[in-house]
Amino acid sequence: MSILNIKNLNTYYGKSHILQGVNFNLDKPGCLALLGRNGAGKTTTLRSIVNLTRPDSGEINFNDLNLKDLSTYEIAEKGLTMVPENRGMFSSLSVLESLNIINNNYNNSEWNIERVLESFPQLKTKLKNSSTSLSGGEQQMLAISKALLTNPKLILLDEPTQGLAPNIVLELIEILRKILSEHISLLIVEQNVNMALEIATEVSILGKGETKWNGTKKDFKKNIAYHKEWIGI
Ligand code: ATP
Repeated sequence: MSILNIKNLNTYYGKSHILQGVNFNLDKPGCLALLGRNGAGKTTTLRSIVNLTRPDSGEINFNDLNLKDLSTYEIAEKGLTMVPENRGMFSSLSVLESLNIINNNYNNSEWNIERVLESFPQLKTKLKNSSTSLSGGEQQMLAISKALLTNPKLILLDEPTQGLAPNIVLELIEILRKILSEHISLLIVEQNVNMALEIATEVSILGKGETKWNGTKKDFKKNIAYHKEWIGI
């Protein structure tokens, strides 16, 4: 059984053919890093997987379930959720209200607000604060907390380190390692290739909307010079 299998994904924005054949596979629990230059189509790939942008063709299987025709909410109920690049914060909602909304809409068999706050004690002292008043690192923690409250088996993370100070990035790496140790898989889009390689087991490279390379981190590291053209490091 594969965690996530993407076959020949094609997605358009209007008449622009953005994804032109995306293929990758996470065949066992772990972390896949989706790398590529700006505009390669990484965010569009994540949005297509959770049907925030409807793909035109291709196949997306999650735990061998074909996601075709499922809504974003139904996909989250099946255990696949996305943390968007803007972290999905609403200024009108406090930290607690943000957590409650998710908590009230999903089955809380594994994760509930108490358990999430034990994992992110920094949020405990800020429950009444507006979500957008939090620091970048705290916002990322809140976004991950909200994802955990959906009881996921796979979380898609779009550039989680964006705008974070180096010490907060290290903290985030530890958080993501802990999540992986809970048998939750990750698909991470990152410009910070070194950070992504700290936690990834598999790598997929996207260039101009097409998959250019798939393989293990070990094989990726053997020939980083070859991949430079597509990942821009
Ligand atoms: P970045 O790191 O800059 O976010 P990315 O690899 O995530 O890049 P996407 O955001 O998926 O790339 O964008 C892929 C292409 O789709 C780009 O050419 C972008 O301009 C285009 N695009 C993105 N969103 C839209 C939209 N809503 N409407 C039209 N074109 C879009």
